[in-house]
Amino acid sequence: MTDLAVQLQGVGKTYPFFTLDGIDLDVPTGTIAGLIGANGAGKSTTIRMLVGLVQQDRGSVRVLGHDLPEHQVAAKQDVGFVSEDIKLYKSATLAWHIHFIRSIFGHWDDAYAQSLLGRFDLNLNQKIRGLSHGQRVKAALLLALARRPRLLVLDEPTAGLDPIARLEVLGALTEVLTDENRTVLLSSQNTLDIEQISDQITFIDRGRVLHSADKETLLDGWRSIRLRVPPATLLPDLPGITRDGGTDRVPILKAHPFEPAMIEALQATGATIETVERMTLEEIFVASVMRQRARADR
Ligand code: ATP
Repeated sequence: MTDLAVQLQGVGKTYPFFTLDGIDLDVPTGTIAGLIGANGAGKSTTIRMLVGLVQQDRGSVRVLGHDLPEHQVAAKQDVGFVSEDIKLYKSATLAWHIHFIRSIFGHWDDAYAQSLLGRFDLNLNQKIRGLSHGQRVKAALLLALARRPRLLVLDEPTAGLDPIARLEVLGALTEVLTDENRTVLLSSQNTLDIEQISDQITFIDRGRVLHSADKETLLDGWRSIRLRVPPATLLPDLPGITRDGGTDRVPILKAHPFEPAMIEALQATGATIETVERMTLEEIFVASVMRQRARADR
């Protein structure tokens, strides 16, 4: 068995008004990987390539040891996919869908499906048409989870869910990892969800990977620094430090990759350090995107 559930190398896709390019992504088996990006960043396109719905124009896509698109039939047997626009048959019941999925994939964990039914508060005999958005997402998740796929891929699974439903869904996802041979890859615009459950985090913007690291390394690599600068003092440009708000006398800076020596360099300018704080994943995501866009637009 390969140590990487997903391996993308130099992957690209060109649409008339959008190019996804140079996407490198390794997802180790047994981890939860989160993909974060703004609207139109290329998250769904990347995810759709992993599940064989979109074919890359460049680069290699390897899923559970299978090269795609050549061996997508074999890969799909072990990949579960849930997206916001998942197509369930509106006039059929959840029980019908379970029967259908079982007939295609063969393996189905009935005890697990029963426990998810209770936890997600779903009724086997209710037609999909009668379900709310959140119930539909949970139904799609149940159908994917109870197959016990080795790789579960989810495109915005928590979009439009209320806080309770979000917690239920995130809880079910983390439980998948109690078996170390299983892997989850999910995309979200909600950095809180990703921060809560992911081991590894990748930022995508304008069709490129900005950052890909394990969560602790990512969170540890950034600091927000608040200074007090003496009148008529101009802060020099320091590598890895960018201004992000505050006033000229009390600027707020973002530092990455953060080194304690940066503090000494700032103090050497005559500035007083007021606070040095770790940043949330959301703050780090915004700062990385702004920094990269400023570089690209220069
Ligand atoms: P969102 O968070 O808004 O769903 P996303 O990060 O998932 O965004 P994608 O859905 O991957 O982004 O779309 C990236 C870009 O690719 C968009 O500009 C979109 O218009 C374009 N795109 C996606 N699919 C197609 C297609 N089939 N034909 C043409 N352009 C496409």
